[in-house]
Amino acid sequence: MSDIIIIGAGIVGLSSAYYLHRQGYTVTVLDKGNITDNCSFGNAGMIVPSHFVPLASPGMVQQGIRWMFNSRSPFYVRPALNRELINWGLRFWKHANFGHVSSSAIPLRDLSLLSKQLFYDLSKEPGFEFELRSKGILALYKTEKAAEEEAHLAKSATELGLDMAILTAAECQLLQPELKLDVLGAVHYRDDGHVSPPKLMNALIAYLEQAGVKIMRNHEVTRIETSGKNIIRLFTGAKEWSADQYVLASGSWSPAIARQMNLNLSLMPGKGYSFMEDEPAKRMAIPVLLCEARVAITPMNGSIRYSGTMELDKINDRINLQRVKGIIESVPKYFSGLNPKLPSREDIWFGFRPSSPDGLPYIGRSIEKENLIIATGHGMMGLSLGPATGLLVSQIASHQKKAVDLKPFLPSR
Ligand SMILES: Cc1cc2nc3c(=O)[nH]c(=O)nc-3n(C[C@H](O)[C@H](O)[C@H](O)COP(=O)(O)OP(=O)(O)OC[C@H]3O[C@@H](n4cnc5c(N)ncnc54)[C@H](O)[C@@H]3O)c2cc1C
Repeated sequence: MSDIIIIGAGIVGLSSAYYLHRQGYTVTVLDKGNITDNCSFGNAGMIVPSHFVPLASPGMVQQGIRWMFNSRSPFYVRPALNRELINWGLRFWKHANFGHVSSSAIPLRDLSLLSKQLFYDLSKEPGFEFELRSKGILALYKTEKAAEEEAHLAKSATELGLDMAILTAAECQLLQPELKLDVLGAVHYRDDGHVSPPKLMNALIAYLEQAGVKIMRNHEVTRIETSGKNIIRLFTGAKEWSADQYVLASGSWSPAIARQMNLNLSLMPGKGYSFMEDEPAKRMAIPVLLCEARVAITPMNGSIRYSGTMELDKINDRINLQRVKGIIESVPKYFSGLNPKLPSREDIWFGFRPSSPDGLPYIGRSIEKENLIIATGHGMMGLSLGPATGLLVSQIASHQKKAVDLKPFLPSR
């Protein structure tokens, strides 16, 4: 089989490498970093068939504007006279409507359920112990308004055939017996699950390297040479690389790499934070989403991970402590005995969700460059959709029948 180069060793790049390798391709993965803390490591680890509503949805523009004036809010857009942000914002606004939500629901559900099945298949392979759990996720709410929104979502989830239950406060408490809850109720999305992201990533890396896939750390793609409709070669500094096909799986950096080929890819980095604490003596039984606060809490291997916030800005390494405080202060409002401490700066992780303006990932062959497959833009669902995307990349590369309809995800949509 022929050679393939993948640019980026996040969950999307590594999942693509996994399925391409299994098809018999000779695969090389190039990454600019040391592959220990990209966005695929520090996320909340949730597998979310329940996320069938894209970020671009009715009310998000108005809500986003309200949140911009609160320094501890979970969502922020840094206003800038930047052509990319303006174009992205206009496209987001165009898609924030019921028609888009309704046409995205089935494609997102199908992609998610495929990925969930692949996670289960993967977990049965030797060496793939990544704490896959299938206890669902509790979306906890405190206000009538959030209860109404969640009930509406739950109704759509049922229509889509997803397994969920609307719970009273007392029923939530039964599911989290060791912690004292202060909520109005919750939706228990029983099709959801969770994993330990670092264990998953390290298992993939170990498997691929042992299988002979070259994973080149600290190899930043700095230049791409094209001719007509093809990529001819690319460079990591002075070093030259070429292959029969290429996969762009570079998360939030993908637009910059696309520009090296004169391609335009609308994507904004959505910065989020997370930090770990030792699990309290009283354990959290099921991962939770705090609906109003937009915070996720995931138990992982004797620790607990708090994560949240979405800042749309240029890629930068600033830590906004106000937003981390926003995460911390929200927790005891839902769990009266849970009081996470403000971590030191070194213990705060941040990553950039590669966010497309319509909230759907880009998966498909580039129209402009025929030997290029694009796999990015998974936003808040990249971990969850990683395996399905990898499988699809391998099917695109080998011109096989695709496991799901690619039309809604095509980069040229
Ligand atoms: C706080 C937070 C919580 C989240 N929680 C969840 C969750 O619970 N469930 C879920 O499904 N998703 C979640 N996400 C989203 C998820 O983490 C991302 O969608 C996903 O990790 C994106 O994966 P990726 O492979 O596309 O990109 P990345 O993981 O960012 O990987 C891209 C790689 O490309 C490399 N790269 C960039 N430029 C170059 C270059 N020029 N040359 C070579 N390599 C390059 C980078 O070094 C990087 O390693 C969360 C995100 C955040 C921030």
